[in-house]
Amino acid sequence: MIKPDAMANGHSGGILDQIIKAGFHIRALKLTKLSAEKAGEFYAVHNQRPFYGELVEFMSSGPIIAAILEKSNAVEDFRKLIGATNPAQAEEGTIRKRFAESIGRNAIHGSDSDENAKIEGDFFFSGLERF
Ligand code: ATP
Ligand code: MG
Repeated sequence: MIKPDAMANGHSGGILDQIIKAGFHIRALKLTKLSAEKAGEFYAVHNQRPFYGELVEFMSSGPIIAAILEKSNAVEDFRKLIGATNPAQAEEGTIRKRFAESIGRNAIHGSDSDENAKIEGDFFFSGLERF
């Protein structure tokens, strides 16, 4: 998911370009906006963390781009491509280093397991929307 900060800062094209050039195939893609309720559901795993309220408010503050990406070893390779959660600690050339503002406004989300990638793909896309 390309997050609201990166959308507002005009980075959606640059981020998609970097993802495609890294060898990921787009299987589904959508511009949408999360309600606070849906953002809270998406990040429910963090609902006891101190930053949860801020996270839900930010993630529902503007449009996002959701995508399903395919590649061998996709989860691990994508986490490498996006870099550390805090862009100040992300490696040079990673998406978060290039495009993120801060740990809270960090440009992009990546699934953390194959299991969660399936759950998150189903969260955004119906069977008719993936190819
Ligand atoms: P994501 O799940 O969005 O790909 P991540 O897996 O790198 O990020 P998580 O630990 O899952 O990191 O945290 C989810 C999101 O919550 C982060 O991307 C960030 O936007 C926000 N977040 C995490 N830690 C903090 C923090 N200390 N302060 C503010 N926001 C935070
Ligand atoms: Mg995460």
